[in-house]
Amino acid sequence: MANNKDRICIIGAGPAGLSCAMYLEKKGYTNYTIYEKLNKVGGKCWSPKMKVKHNGVEEERSFETGAIMGAITYHAVSEMEEFGGYYHKGPDFKEGEPNMRREFRKLDGTIDHPFEPKVNFSLKKTFSLLKLKKQMKRLNKLMQTKYFGYDCYGHIGVAKGEYFGISKGVNGYCGATEESSFPNYVKGSNPNLKDLALPFSEFCRINKVEEVQRIWIAPFTSFGYGFFDEIPAALVMKYLDVTTALEFVKLRLWTWQDGTQQIYVHVNEKLQHPAVLETEVVKVERPEGKVIVTVKGKDGKEKKEEFDKLIVTTPLDLFKDYADATDEEKELFSKIIHERYCDYIATFEEGKSPIISGYMVENMVPERLGHAMVYYNRWQNLGGDCPATVYALANHTGTPDVDYDVVMKTMDEDMKKVGFPIKEKHFAQEVYYCPHVSSKDYADGWYDRLEALQGTKNTFYAGEIISFGDMEDTCAASKDIIGRFF
Ligand SMILES: Cc1cc2nc3c(=O)[nH]c(=O)nc-3n(C[C@H](O)[C@H](O)[C@H](O)COP(=O)(O)OP(=O)(O)OC[C@H]3O[C@@H](n4cnc5c(N)ncnc54)[C@H](O)[C@@H]3O)c2cc1C
Repeated sequence: MANNKDRICIIGAGPAGLSCAMYLEKKGYTNYTIYEKLNKVGGKCWSPKMKVKHNGVEEERSFETGAIMGAITYHAVSEMEEFGGYYHKGPDFKEGEPNMRREFRKLDGTIDHPFEPKVNFSLKKTFSLLKLKKQMKRLNKLMQTKYFGYDCYGHIGVAKGEYFGISKGVNGYCGATEESSFPNYVKGSNPNLKDLALPFSEFCRINKVEEVQRIWIAPFTSFGYGFFDEIPAALVMKYLDVTTALEFVKLRLWTWQDGTQQIYVHVNEKLQHPAVLETEVVKVERPEGKVIVTVKGKDGKEKKEEFDKLIVTTPLDLFKDYADATDEEKELFSKIIHERYCDYIATFEEGKSPIISGYMVENMVPERLGHAMVYYNRWQNLGGDCPATVYALANHTGTPDVDYDVVMKTMDEDMKKVGFPIKEKHFAQEVYYCPHVSSKDYADGWYDRLEALQGTKNTFYAGEIISFGDMEDTCAASKDIIGRFF
């Protein structure tokens, strides 16, 4: 166990590192240092500003290259908002605020209305929507009964048929209510939870709710979290728990006027020790009782610092290469898989940008790897001249990866085909995304082995891998780890 005089090193100033620092301060630990290799905080929450024309006048507005949205279930993010004094907009958006409306677009450029029974009415469509509604209800019930306990952040015990952690639910899941849901620790056993190790498509098949994938796919696969034949159901259901999924369907989402990055900029400003920028951790040695960290500053010079405890919020499969990793750490961390998610902000030929965000569901299958799956129009009051972010996945288990350059070109072609010819690309990137393990490794207890390592060699693991690769799961994992070990 740590004590509040300990000198603590945090690697990374993304949502995980900054939330760890915030929760440490809340517990009276103030002797910490956060190292961040880039010249900015927020990690994958990156909201660059761009000049745009609104009613003929030039303005600067924020756009998103990374995280965009949240929902009522974003409890830890709310605590970050409160700490930093910077709050979301929505779920009811006013004129001039970024908006979360969206359409479904077919690859021939026409608009689809898959969930509106009266548009393009047919008996077949009505029947299929009724079936979907029935299965949604069934899944909702199953998650509260057969899979009771599924909604804890993190994966401790799940492979053994147990649950432990902070319950994320509202509206009665796991006994939590809107007022008491955070932090509401729950613990128990439920052998059915072992099913959550199965790929989501298999999980749906055994529970006879295959149709629900039509709802879950848009906010999941298009946002880079992988395909349902490969991703353990636990990851899908812990992120898109039934409450959050319904908020997506009803478009009752949150977003941030100046971008998600500002949540973390504001938190960083309020911390007693803001992140040390442009300082990369390049080596970690952990002799008995201490942690020696070598950092490389922007002048390229390296220096060693001594700490009592280390919190790693950065990719563990990379950590093992610059730290004195034990055989157990090396073996465990080499099993981590991540998604290769690519995106860019595009400006379009005059008057030809999408005027609302759109899902391209036909591209959300492994056979269409590398194709544009979603585009995000943030400022609908800019009309047909608003830049938009376009996204695609470049990898799938069992399929050859698609090269970055090919993905970029394919996205351009897709956007042109559906009627949005791109003039210029800005901030194009491929990100290390949604780290997780295979269904087999999940079932073999990978997460319990990670939990058993917490604290050994004075090292604690936080970040996306602990629960899921979204802002909320990441920050809630920090709350859990700081809460239990510090
Ligand atoms: C395109 C996209 C869309 C997304 N949409 C959403 C969304 O709508 N809603 C949502 O909730 N989430 C979304 N996310 C996910 C969310 O951004 C991530 O889950 C979250 O940023 C993870 O936080 P983290 O701190 O664990 O990791 P990161 O954000 O990756 O931060 C890690 C930090 O560590 C730094 N670092 C790495 N190595 C070192 C080192 N050796 N030394 C020092 N510093 C180092 C990195 O530079 C980085 O700043 C999206 C992400 C992307 C890319």
